[in-house]
Amino acid sequence: MPFQIEQLDNWLRPNVRHMQAYSSARSEYKGSASIWLDANENPFGKVFHRYPDPLQQKVKTRLAELKFVQSQQLFLGNGSDEVLDLVMRAFCVPGKDAAISCPPTYGMYRVLAELNDVELREVPLDDDFDLDVEGILAKADEHCKLLFLCSPNNPTGNAFKVERVRRLLGEFSGLVLIDEAYIEFAEQDSFVSCLEEFPNLIISQTLSKAWGLAGLRLGMAIAHTKIVEVLNRIKPPYNISRVNQEAALEKLKKEVQVAKEVAQIRVQRQLLKNALQELPFVRKVYPSDANFLLVKVWRPEELYDYLLEEGIVIRLRHRLAGCKDSVRFSIGSPAENERLVQALRQYGSIKAAAQSPH
Ligand SMILES: *Cc1c(COP(=O)(O)O)cnc(C)c1O
Repeated sequence: MPFQIEQLDNWLRPNVRHMQAYSSARSEYKGSASIWLDANENPFGKVFHRYPDPLQQKVKTRLAELKFVQSQQLFLGNGSDEVLDLVMRAFCVPGKDAAISCPPTYGMYRVLAELNDVELREVPLDDDFDLDVEGILAKADEHCKLLFLCSPNNPTGNAFKVERVRRLLGEFSGLVLIDEAYIEFAEQDSFVSCLEEFPNLIISQTLSKAWGLAGLRLGMAIAHTKIVEVLNRIKPPYNISRVNQEAALEKLKKEVQVAKEVAQIRVQRQLLKNALQELPFVRKVYPSDANFLLVKVWRPEELYDYLLEEGIVIRLRHRLAGCKDSVRFSIGSPAENERLVQALRQYGSIKAAAQSPH
C-alpha cells in the first residue's frame, strides 16, 4: 500500500493514532489575560518564571520566512535528534516494523532504531558513496515504514544525486526522511521544494551546523502539515526552552552574516582540500558538500595520535564499513586550518625522514 496523506492514520503506530496530546495550561487558554494562575509558576520570578510557548510560534514564523514554507509545515525539536526520534516513534511499531539506512552514514539512525526496538535494514552506499536505489527498493516491504537519507551525507560529505533521491521518493512505499543537517554548505538545493509533490517526504534541518548554534539544541522537521500535527501531539509539551527560543530568534535575524560565514567555510574547504592533496600520506580527499572533509590516509590512528599531541582533535572514521583508513576533518577558522596544515606538513616530513635510507 503506497503512502497517501489522506490515509496518514493507517501509517501511524496504533497507540499514537488514538493518543491525545498532553493539554498544557498555556495551550488550553485562548484570549487575552494579565494574571496567570494556571500553571503553578512562581509569581515572584522576573525572567524565566513562565513556561515557554509550547508551539514556538515566533521562531516558526521567522523560520517559515527563511525556508519559504508555511509555519504549520514546521516542527521544532530539541536538536534534530529529537525530531528523528519522534518520527520513528510516530510511525514504527517496536518489535514489528523496520527502517532502512544507507551506511556509511550518521550513527544516530542506528542508535534510535535500537532504542525504539525497530529493525534497521542497511543498504550500503555504492563505490561513489551514492544511493543504491535498486538495493533499497529490494529491501522494502510492508513493515518498512521509514527510509533515512542523509544528504549531504555524514561522514562521506557528498550530496546524493537528485534523480536517485527523486526515484526513491516516488517508489519507496513508506516515509522518506532526508536529513539535511549540512544543506547550507551544498551546491544543490534543499528538497523542501519537493514537499508538495511527495507528501511522504520529511526533511530535517538544524541550527547546529551552518547557523552556529550547536550548544543551543534546535532542530526542525519540514513536512506536510498533517505530519507536523502528529509530531506536535506526541512531543514533550515544552521541548524548546524559553532561552532557546529567544536566542534562536536573535540569531535568525543574522542571515546575512551566516551566509558570509558559510561562504568563507566553503572557501576554506577548498583551500584545505588543496593542501591535503599535496601531502605524501594522503591517499584520497573525497568531494564534499558539507563543512568537513573525509580523507583516506596511511595509518589513520598514528596520524590521529600525532595531531592530538599537537592539540588538534579530528574524527577517526576508519572503523566504519566503506571508510577504511579514513579520518574526518571539520573545517575550522582560517587560523585553525592553517595550524592544522602546518602540523600535517610536519608529520609528513617526519614520516619521510623515517623512511629515507640515510
Ligand atoms: C550534526 C548532525 C545533525 C544535527 O543534530 P542536532 O541534534 O540538530 O545537533 C543531524 N544529522 C546529521 C547527519 C548530523 O551530522
